[in-house]
Order: sequence, then structure tokens, then C-alpha cells
Amino acid sequence: MQVANIKVERVKESKITQVDFDNLPFGSVYSDHIFECDFVDGQWQTPNIKPFAPIALDPSAKIFHYGQSIFEGMKAYKDQKGNTLLFRPLDNCRRLNKSAERLAIPQFPEELFMSGLKKLLEVDNQWIPTKEGSSLYIRPFIFATGTGFHASPANAYKLIIATAPSGAYFAGKVKVLIEENYSRAANGGVGYAKAGGNYAGQFYPTQLAIEKGYNQVIWTDDNTHEYIEEAGAMNIFVRINDTLITSPTSDRILDGITRKSILQIAKDSNLPVEVRKITVAEVVEAAKNGSLKEMFGAGTAAVISPISGFGYKENDYELPELENSYASKLKKTITDIQTNKTEDPYGWRVLV
Ligand SMILES: *Cc1c(COP(=O)(O)O)cnc(C)c1O
Repeated sequence: MQVANIKVERVKESKITQVDFDNLPFGSVYSDHIFECDFVDGQWQTPNIKPFAPIALDPSAKIFHYGQSIFEGMKAYKDQKGNTLLFRPLDNCRRLNKSAERLAIPQFPEELFMSGLKKLLEVDNQWIPTKEGSSLYIRPFIFATGTGFHASPANAYKLIIATAPSGAYFAGKVKVLIEENYSRAANGGVGYAKAGGNYAGQFYPTQLAIEKGYNQVIWTDDNTHEYIEEAGAMNIFVRINDTLITSPTSDRILDGITRKSILQIAKDSNLPVEVRKITVAEVVEAAKNGSLKEMFGAGTAAVISPISGFGYKENDYELPELENSYASKLKKTITDIQTNKTEDPYGWRVLV
């Protein structure tokens, strides 16, 4: 299906004049239009672009009962010349389909995803912020619209791509709690997928951590709680002395695009990098003897979210303030590539 086939129904009146682009929140102001495509009768139908508005669903739609719901998170940027840019968008599309497979949701055609997204960005081009640090957050998602109280995959689905002009995700550093009891994911489970329920399951343990004065949970392995796996909904990096360490991806760890970009850039900058399991014990030990220099989360929303300290077994550990942190250096390189301020030797940037 070609981009030419996409029908566009425009809003009668744009909401854009009501938006303060100098003070954007993250992900809670929405652009005028969405891209929408329905799966019925065994296939994806002709998509359309239409106004952002509530949707009506049957009370027996399977999304409500069995949580067949997946999503992606990506961003569009404006460079100084006014070009619209995406960052590794095909990777998001492929991961959406990996999540879809795991949740028994039909595959969405790559070409249709890319052409639909580009068309949406043309229609809502004015919504892409130009201010430093801001971007257009893009949220593609698929959910089961098919009906029935029987626990089986739905026969109908909807894909929507919605967008939100957004400012920076986290303000400042976060204090985290290393989780000893709850788990985010298990072997053979859905942790590697961006499935809605994964995040619902994180909310309660995160609330408990917030009540104790932390901002976020560091997830450990479900079996022993001895290995550090992810930071909230971000991949985690630890710097011990000069070595940057991150866990290998698995059933339980999401294959983040920011994570793999950081690994590539770090290698090419000759930073010592290790992809291996990280034990809680070695991080605690490194914090005690001063070799723990940095910890940070990595994900599309925040890019890199530095950690100021962590709690573990009733003790708090502070991290040092560094002048030239890996976190700030890597974040600058990635955002410079994303916004066309530097060469992109990897071909990650995609011009819309
Ligand atoms: C989305 C996500 C990440 C980060 O992935 P990016 O592709 O870098 O945005 C990491 N962990 C979890 C659990 C996630 O949902």
C-alpha cells in the first residue's frame, strides 16, 4: 500500500495556537492528527490520517480483558535548516513487530508504517518543536479491538500513531532503589516486548519506592535478585573506574535503541565497554570503594537519565558529581546526531 492511498481528514481548527512551545510538558499535549489503520477480515485495511479524538470500543474488546496491547516510543526532530529527522525508525517498526509476535498480534507492514509515519509528520509538521532539547514524541501502538469474553487472540486490531510535542523528560538526576522483591520480567515471559501490561506491573513497586523517597526502581533478575537488569523503563549502564558496563539483552531485558546506539558510540570513542551481567554485590562494593563513577538509564524519552545514588537493603549510596561524565558526553553525541549538528557515520538519521 502506497502513501498516495492514505486518506487525510484534517481538523476544522488547529489547536496549535493554544500550545506554549517554550514550556512543553512531556507527552501530554497532542498534535492535531493521528495515523490510524484497522486490521479486520484477516488483513490491514486502507489507513487514514484523521483528527486526534476519543475512540469508541465495544465493552468486550479484548484489549480490556486480556491486555493485547503493544507500543513504541520514538521521536522526530527539526534541524537548524528546518528539516524533519527521525532516528533509526525502522528499528522501532521491527521491534513493534517483535512485540506483536509475542502478543499474538498480526504483523504490521514495514512500508506502510514508514510511509504512514512520514505522511503524518508532513500533515502535523508545524507541531515538531524547534527549541533545543524539545522534540516530537511519537507513540505508535496496536491494541485488540476484536470482541469476546473468551480468552483467545482477537480477530480485529487497531494501529494508531499519535504524536506529542515534548520538552525534556526528566528534570535532573534520579535516586533509585534496587529491587529485592518484585520483578518486572521473567524467563520465557514478555519482558523484551513493549507490552502495555509490563508497565502496569511496574507501577505498584515503583509507588512503594517513591513512598520511601526514591524516584525509580532498578529491576533485578526474577530468580535471585542478584543481577541488575533495567532502570524503570530504561536500559541501565554502570561505569566502574573507566569501564562502561551494561547487561546483555534477553527475554527479560528490552533491546533498547538508545542502549545499542550508546554501545556503538562508546566503542568508536575507544571507551572500555563490557556487555555482561552486573551483580548488585559488585555495584555496592564499587560504591563503597569509590570505583563506582556513574550509573544512568538509557531510553528514547530521556536519552540518558543520570542516577545520583541508589538504595539497597536499607542503605543509601551516593555517586560522585563528575565534570566530564560519560553520561553527558554520550548524550551530547547522540542528540547531536539526532538533530543534525554532527556527522552521522552510522546512517541512523532519516530525513522525512
Ligand atoms: C522502551 C524501553 C527501553 C528503551 O528503549 P529505547 O529503544 O532506547 O527507547 C528500555 N527498557 C524498557 C523496559 C523499555 O520499555
